[in-house]
Amino acid sequence: MVGALAVAALAAGAVVAVPADTAEAAGPSGGKGGAKVVYLTFDDGPSPAYTPRILSILDRYGVRATFFELGENVAAHPSLTAQVARQGHSVQNHSWSHPDLRRLSGSSFNAQVGDTDRAIRARAGHTPTCLRPPYGAVNGTVRSRAAALGKQVVLWSVDPADWSRPGAAAIRSRVLDNVRPGSVILLHDGGGDRSQTAAALPTILSTLKARGYRFATLC
Ligand code: ZN
Repeated sequence: MVGALAVAALAAGAVVAVPADTAEAAGPSGGKGGAKVVYLTFDDGPSPAYTPRILSILDRYGVRATFFELGENVAAHPSLTAQVARQGHSVQNHSWSHPDLRRLSGSSFNAQVGDTDRAIRARAGHTPTCLRPPYGAVNGTVRSRAAALGKQVVLWSVDPADWSRPGAAAIRSRVLDNVRPGSVILLHDGGGDRSQTAAALPTILSTLKARGYRFATLC
């Protein structure tokens, strides 16, 4: 969703958060040798209505993505989380129930992140290494608590606000007009009607492929 921060994927593969207004200067050069890599990410799932549809589009284009899932949705639809992982995508932590992590006590933070870790590990077979805070809401406390749990905080650099349902054409153009090597693209497979996101996806993938981009998982 809306955030004042953006991420820069460093050549070494590390991802750090930087203020959006400095993202350009400090931002990704596209990895080693300026490789044209983009990172597709999907938040707020899994969702029985949209995750399978998005998975089938990704599969058709041979693209791997990173899914930041909510623990409560993993618990409700565990077979979907297993399917996401089985199809070669990375499943990562987006908290249990989408709170603003800045407002939580230490024990609540640890429950939100730790319970989600356990739910994902049980279904995806790996423990998330990355945490995307809901709303991109981060501060020093969130960062230090995440680090204490071994989590890297990951945000994004291209946000077409697909969750606000601006129309598939707007989602497509907002992505395609702003993407550059190293971009982390924020999309949503859960949290509401994501039919526009699914409708926008094939053209986004085919256009980026035609521009010479390859797709990688973030974490
Ligand atoms: Zn979210």
